[in-house]
Amino acid sequence: MEAAIIIIGFICAVLIIILIKGRKKQLLTQTALKKVINQLNETNHIDNAIFCSVHAYILFIDSSFKVLKTNVHTLDKLDNKRVGDLLLCVNGKTSKNGCGTSAYCPMCPIRQCIQRAFDTKTSFKDLRFPLHIYNGNEKKELLAMISGSYLLMKGRPYMVLTIHDITKLNKIEEEMRAKKEAAEQSSVSKSAFLANMSHEIRTPLNAIVGFSDILASTDTKDERMQYQEIIKSNANLLLQLVNDILDVSKIEAGMLDFNYADVDINLMLSDLHQQALMKLEGSSSSVNLVKSLGAENCVAKTDRVRVSQVISNFLSNAMKYAAQGQITMGYEVRGDNLYFFVKDNGKGISKEDLSKLFERFYRVDRTKSGTGLGLAISKTIVDKLGGKIGADSELEKGSTFWFTIPYVPSDSVQTV
Ligand code: ADP
Repeated sequence: MEAAIIIIGFICAVLIIILIKGRKKQLLTQTALKKVINQLNETNHIDNAIFCSVHAYILFIDSSFKVLKTNVHTLDKLDNKRVGDLLLCVNGKTSKNGCGTSAYCPMCPIRQCIQRAFDTKTSFKDLRFPLHIYNGNEKKELLAMISGSYLLMKGRPYMVLTIHDITKLNKIEEEMRAKKEAAEQSSVSKSAFLANMSHEIRTPLNAIVGFSDILASTDTKDERMQYQEIIKSNANLLLQLVNDILDVSKIEAGMLDFNYADVDINLMLSDLHQQALMKLEGSSSSVNLVKSLGAENCVAKTDRVRVSQVISNFLSNAMKYAAQGQITMGYEVRGDNLYFFVKDNGKGISKEDLSKLFERFYRVDRTKSGTGLGLAISKTIVDKLGGKIGADSELEKGSTFWFTIPYVPSDSVQTV
């Protein structure tokens, strides 16, 4: 009997121990489970925060393009919406049943790309597509960069799409590319400019040095005068060249300054006419120089020095390239503009040459001395004055070089 009581007591003790142990284990399992759930919640919170704060649309879609989850905040209910509906695609918006039902949808490059990825069970990355969307009531074209990660879950295909609007980024990229190209081009043309200049400077300089030597050993007066004339014309060419180079370097450095003041246009043209007549008197040219004033009185707010520089360049070209006949210099008031012109009946310029005339170093007639810079500098000046410049010409008939500047009322001073 005693033995039986001891055995029953032992069994009870064992059972109690097992029960206590089981309870402990259960308690431990519950704590671990709670811990895991807490950790999962935290991870979920972080994932959601990341999901909602990236600067891109993230769409989790199924193979029918239906969006199952997204970070597009404005949407309370996804309501069976598909990719194009969420992106406000024009095609989806304009067709009754939304994305995928418009006649244009099969041609949509984004749809084709996603479909191909589903069909081939592959992902794609950073593809660029134009996207036509509705921005309010207005249509807008964006450039989108789209990546798609293919997923297979419980035997079903899904995809995570990431869509970036890179319209602004692309514009900045294009601007930077254009600036880089311009900088490279400028470096090339500067090297070409230097090479050209050293050649152009050496030619008159060699003539001056060479003829100065000969002059010293010349006996006759006629020869001396002839050599002096050659030295003088080369020195003038050198001076013109230096002035042109200084102007070009000022243009390059953005330092070509303009001083606006009231300018009596008739007086300015009369002065230029007088100076040109004096030049003609000292030359062998038989040109008849006529001035044509477009108004009795004309005062404009402009830069006298720069406007005179352009007209002087036209005039000296006309006298150089049309050694006889008539040259007419003048202006007309044309609405809000002043139209200046220098017309000659010289040998004229072909259509092909006309289109390149205002480029640096472009010279048609190389038998006359020149730098090929005058018209390019004139173009920059007229551009800065807010006008237009051009030339009309016919071979063997003559040319008209012209430019316009705004006829600014005298009470509004401008600075450049
Ligand atoms: P440059 O006269 O120093 O060569 P420009 O830039 O002033 O340089 O002129 C460029 C070229 O345009 C000249 O070389 C010349 O061939 C042509 N040209 C300019 N004006 C006339 C004109 N009135 N008639 C014919 N050709 C002209």
